[in-house]
Amino acid sequence: MIAFDDTIVAPATPPGTSAIAVIRLSGTQSIEICNQLFRNRNLQEQPSHTIHYGTLRDGDEVLDEVLVSLFKAPTSFTKEDVVEISCHGSGYVVQRIIRGLLKYGARLAEPGEFTKRAFLNGQFDLAQAEAIGDLIHADSEATHQAALHQMRGGFSKQIRTLREQLVHFASLVELELDFGEEDVEFANRTDLKNLVLEIQIVISKLIESFRLGNVIKNGVPTVIAGKPNAGKSTLLNALLNEEKAIVSDIPGTTRDFIEDEIQIEGIRFRFIDTAGLRHTTDTIEAMGVARTREKLKQASLIIYLYDVAQTTAEELEDELREIKSLEIPYLAVGNKADAAPQPRKGERPPPTPSEGGGFPTPPSGVGGPLFISAATGQGLDELRQRLLDKVRTDDYRKTDTLVTNLRHYEQLRLTHEALEQVLAGLGTSITGDLLAMDI
Ligand code: GDP
Repeated sequence: MIAFDDTIVAPATPPGTSAIAVIRLSGTQSIEICNQLFRNRNLQEQPSHTIHYGTLRDGDEVLDEVLVSLFKAPTSFTKEDVVEISCHGSGYVVQRIIRGLLKYGARLAEPGEFTKRAFLNGQFDLAQAEAIGDLIHADSEATHQAALHQMRGGFSKQIRTLREQLVHFASLVELELDFGEEDVEFANRTDLKNLVLEIQIVISKLIESFRLGNVIKNGVPTVIAGKPNAGKSTLLNALLNEEKAIVSDIPGTTRDFIEDEIQIEGIRFRFIDTAGLRHTTDTIEAMGVARTREKLKQASLIIYLYDVAQTTAEELEDELREIKSLEIPYLAVGNKADAAPQPRKGERPPPTPSEGGGFPTPPSGVGGPLFISAATGQGLDELRQRLLDKVRTDDYRKTDTLVTNLRHYEQLRLTHEALEQVLAGLGTSITGDLLAMDI
């Protein structure tokens, strides 16, 4: 425990008007300070984990009727004495109560200071502290799950186990050094190599998970590209309008509809640079190759839209070659399937869009051909599924650890490099002291 000698206070709920707001104090004097305003009973004589109804007064001035919750050290969030005051959710009331608490010796907390104290007092490790931030900002099922798993220590536990196994080997190797003359080998090199290989598999998987983890946390910047009149703005509007409908159909949802963003199974696709799509005829063709590339480079995913009736297979191939050279995942989508030529009487019907026949189809390697009608909504479900498939690998399960944090990702990469050193050392049979250092 680190003994902080001051008591901090801050609102725990966001500014604005609400039914209830919570003000939180942490520190050795938090109960004593609150007691200066609370008139109904002596809070200092009350047991931990109890709630007390009463009036807060500053001198003669009545501030509010409140509920005070007491959490005594060490069984609180920060492991210090913590008081939570639930008051009425007016910005003025919150400020007035805090002013009163400052007067009796509290000081305003810095941003994140409650969590910092909890961390320094050993309540959780850094990964878990970071996860609390992520959990607070979670705005989809996927971000919520990932943050919750990390906060509960899933990630930390996995890393700790791997680390312990390595430390065990390092100590065996170091033990050999004490018997330098005698040429003994406590650490079986084959076992060590197997362990390192095993750990590399886990680390690689964690590193790989960052691709999805990052997507889950920050959304997928998506661009709809294509020639003028391919139907880009129609498609964008169709996707966004369906999203609006989905959001407002879910009972009790208060999530604001976010312009230019859709969620598919908890993963957010952010359509970037859509202003041009909506209001002008700003198009790839009009912009020239350099600017097009600049624009597309911001994307993590490109939907390349083409008009099935107006595009020959050769044209499509040419355009996709350009897109491919960007090395960004893309999805080629044929639009206006509804306007495809209908068979005339007595004629053999043209192949159906789902067979890919008749229409110019994207080359293999980008999944089977996908045909939609932005105007009628046909194929949009399939399009959503394809978008999801582009970012989600099949072997991801909800219970898997997902790395969502850039710092963790960097550290895992360094670990991977260091372990490669160990493997190289084992390969060339370097001496134990060098091997131990690498580990
Ligand atoms: P953009 O230039 O790529 O943004 O294309 P627009 O979205 O402005 O669409 C160009 C024209 O194609 C408009 O007249 C649309 O109504 C029409 N259009 C777009 N999608 C479809 C579709 O799926 N079927 C049909 N029949 N027409 C479409």
